[in-house]
Amino acid sequence: MKYIGPHVSASGGVENAPLNACKIGATAFALFTKNQRQWIAKPLSHESISAFRKNCESLGYLPNQILPHDSYLINLGHPEAGALEKSRLAFIDELERCMQLGLDRLNFHPGSHLGEISEEECLNRIAESINKALDVTKGVTAVIENTAGQGTNLGFSFYHLKHIIERVEDKSRVGVCIDTCHAFAAGYPVHTPEGFVSTFKEFAEVVGFEYLKGMHVNDSKKGLGSRVDRHDSYGDGLMGTSFYELLMQDTRFDNMPLILETPNEDRWPQEVAMLRKLAGDKI
Ligand SMILES: [Zn+2]
Ligand SMILES: [Zn+2]
Repeated sequence: MKYIGPHVSASGGVENAPLNACKIGATAFALFTKNQRQWIAKPLSHESISAFRKNCESLGYLPNQILPHDSYLINLGHPEAGALEKSRLAFIDELERCMQLGLDRLNFHPGSHLGEISEEECLNRIAESINKALDVTKGVTAVIENTAGQGTNLGFSFYHLKHIIERVEDKSRVGVCIDTCHAFAAGYPVHTPEGFVSTFKEFAEVVGFEYLKGMHVNDSKKGLGSRVDRHDSYGDGLMGTSFYELLMQDTRFDNMPLILETPNEDRWPQEVAMLRKLAGDKI
């Protein structure tokens, strides 16, 4: 079964996210459990937590159909001790919020070396940050997203993901999310039939599908290997539309949230419907 939906708004309370997803026919959704541009957030209220759980239950959204995303401010590989600590505490808070909401995975961008430490040192720090966070939380898997490799962001190579996973002690609580736009911008030709096959063959060999906990299904405004992260709507960017069908008909992507992070909200109902049809849903 394919679960498909966009990153919806949780404005007014996290309990609104499943309602927003349901309104547009989504069978999956992503959300921020706090304002993604602020460090500090009020704890989730008991009312909000129980309303979120109730809405997910009544609308039929299980944890494997939901992919919460952490704050963009967090850098788990930060070169400076103080800033690294701040990121680690914020990440633990994000995991705790997921636990409260009954969610089982948290999607995050691995981190940036900011030109101050080596790639290897930064990747080691990210793994250490994950270990520390998993030690003090329960039940939520840390889901590392591949990146476009913009600026000093790491995670653009499958080998970066492998490097981090190898150093995480509890392998049952680490996973990855592959963003198609990021993979393309990082130089993986995931948009052509041959490139799709070779990219995911490499992914299977380097990382392994057992770690795949979700996908971000986006087109790209910038070219193959551009290392620039600019998402585009279905069919509008440089990736064409043939890869959607390959993805939607491939059982390796079953039973996990397949999330649209496409820029035009007005087109989400149409994009969701198109992908669901390609996946064989009768709608
Ligand atoms: Zn993404
Ligand atoms: Zn992106």
